[in-house]
This record gives sequence, C-alpha cells and structure tokens, in this order.
Amino acid sequence: MPTLLTHPAVPLAVGITLGRKILPPRLLLVGMVAAMLPDLDVVGLQHGVAYAAAYGHRGVTHSLSIALVTALLLSLTYRRLKVNYTTACWFLFISIGSHGVLDAFTNGGLGIALAWPFSEQRYFAPWRVIEVSPLGVERFFSVRGWEVLQSEAVWVWLPLLVVAGVGGFIRRSLTPPPGPDPRGAPNQG
Ligand SMILES: [Zn+2]
Repeated sequence: MPTLLTHPAVPLAVGITLGRKILPPRLLLVGMVAAMLPDLDVVGLQHGVAYAAAYGHRGVTHSLSIALVTALLLSLTYRRLKVNYTTACWFLFISIGSHGVLDAFTNGGLGIALAWPFSEQRYFAPWRVIEVSPLGVERFFSVRGWEVLQSEAVWVWLPLLVVAGVGGFIRRSLTPPPGPDPRGAPNQG
C-alpha cells in the first residue's frame, strides 16, 4: 500500500477541486477517513489470515464492489453530511474505491482484488511506480520508509496538488461574482 496518510489525498484533491458548496467539509472529512478503511484487512493478516486469501490483505476490502456497498451505506447519513444522497454516494465511492486503485500502482506485495466477488484475480496497474510501504510501524521508520514517502510525494501528492490547484482555479473562474446587496444599500465605499 501507499502509506495510510496518502489515501486521503484523493478525496482531499476532489474536495479542493469542487469546493465546499458541492462537497461540504463534513462529507470531505468522512471521505478522507473512509479512504483508509480498506487497510483494516491488516487486522486479519495479524490474526493468521493468509495474504493471498480472498479475505487477506488487498483482497475483499479493496474491491470496487465493497467500496460501492460501503459508500451506499455510509451515505444513509447524508442529512448529517449536509448533502443529498446521490452526492454522498458518488463522492464516498470515489474516496473508498480509489484506495485499491492507488495500491495497484505500488511495486510490491500481491495485486488488488478489484473485481471481487466476480473474480478473485489480483490486479496491478500497467505502471507500478509507487514504492510499496512496509506493513510494520518499526520498518516504516527507516530509510525504506523515507524512500516510500519520497515516491508518494512525486507520484501521488504532486499530481493531485496540480489537479486540485488547476481544478480549484477553474471552479473559481466559473463561479459568478456575488450579486448586489439584497438589502439594496449602495455597495460603494
Ligand atoms: Zn491498501
């Protein structure tokens, strides 16, 4: 996997691009946390579930169908998230589904069971440019961990920063300026 902190970068970039009117902060926050959920499968790994099993690391929890079901369920709280159900659904699906897709660009471990339950095949992207993150915390705080962070900065954070910057700029350019003061007071100093 990329490090756990890198997965929320995708919903964050979508949020910056579309702005708080479409994606309110509460929904954005839930999306960022939800983007980390698929890696809960490491708990099974620590309790003896084999990495390569369907329920192993990068298996079922990383599939697009589980991302969709989780998004549909989490979106039931749409009123608290201050959006409509459809907006909550597609944003949370992108947030969670992007996790497995990002993992597929890493250069280690097994592939990702993106198509489960239709297929248990593990997939990798054609370009595996992201250094895979070590699973243990101890191993992460090492030279290897530093290399992983550098690789994620170049291949994930930087492109997303550009997308969010350009997207946010276009959105602001397209947003009409605020109308005249509704109270009718002259708006001049
Ligand atoms: Zn993962």
